[in-house]
Amino acid sequence: MVTDLAAYAASLGFVACGVASLEPSRYGDALDAWLKAGYGGTMRYLHRRARKRKHPEEIVSGATVAVVVLENYLPAAPHQGPIKVAKYARGEDYHRALMRRLTLLAEWLRAQGATVAHPWADDGPVPERELAERAGLGWIGKNAMLIRPESGSYCLIGTVFTDLPLAPGRAVDFDRCGSCTRCLDACPTEAFVGPRVLDATRCISYLTIESRAPIPEPLAERLDGWGFGCDICNDVCPWNQRFAEPTAVAAYQERGAIGINDPEYFERMTPEEFTLRFGDTPLERPGLAGMRRNWAAASRSLPLR
Ligand code: SF4
Ligand code: SF4
Repeated sequence: MVTDLAAYAASLGFVACGVASLEPSRYGDALDAWLKAGYGGTMRYLHRRARKRKHPEEIVSGATVAVVVLENYLPAAPHQGPIKVAKYARGEDYHRALMRRLTLLAEWLRAQGATVAHPWADDGPVPERELAERAGLGWIGKNAMLIRPESGSYCLIGTVFTDLPLAPGRAVDFDRCGSCTRCLDACPTEAFVGPRVLDATRCISYLTIESRAPIPEPLAERLDGWGFGCDICNDVCPWNQRFAEPTAVAAYQERGAIGINDPEYFERMTPEEFTLRFGDTPLERPGLAGMRRNWAAASRSLPLR
């Protein structure tokens, strides 16, 4: 059965697939400490979801395991600077793109006899990286990303919670980061408190996507040209530099024309134009007001040329 599952997941284009058990999280105390320290900033939903993140068995009633898949989002074309958009955000909204095929996977599980098959596309209260680790798909690197030895960390994690009697995979119990600290050293805003501990309130991804507030000046100066998200702690990772390959999924390819050379690009755009051009992309999350803020700050952070 698991072989059939892996074959079907591969036919959908997922780069890896495994099965995770749903016992309580081993990172529960670390999550509590992280939230208590305020590293989640204004993301109050993380507090609301904490109970279920610590208890994945409570996320979907009746589910006994989670099928976990990895989705490669690395676009084929290199991004032209100077204002930069994170690699996962250059095409269609990845939640939608991922959910389309997770829905097919859930239908397939039902066709095999499942009465429960609930997909989660990198959202909800799901501790995705821990479940992927349990399913044997990789380890959580010092940059807090799931790293698959064969392909690195440019991947989204999707799950389908199900009651189909699937045998869980063998959990990954290795850490192949070794003595490397490249990701921790390269972060321009010094957002890592330590290995695997991120102060999200200092992270460019939070500042340009999640936060609605103006970007605090000491951090805005260090954006290094990033106008939506940041890839640095992935880009410097030797596992990506060595093994990452572009995705074949069309939805993640760069659509072009994001105005990367134009600091006024979003300033001139009307709300109607923004919705037409970016309404189905990740840039919709900060919205036009957020992208105006980001573009202005990102262009100010660039060295004078
Ligand atoms: S995404 Fe960028 S800002 Fe955030 S932790 Fe990684 S390197 Fe630092
Ligand atoms: S850059 Fe080095 S320390 Fe960071 S995740 Fe990659 S291997 Fe681990």
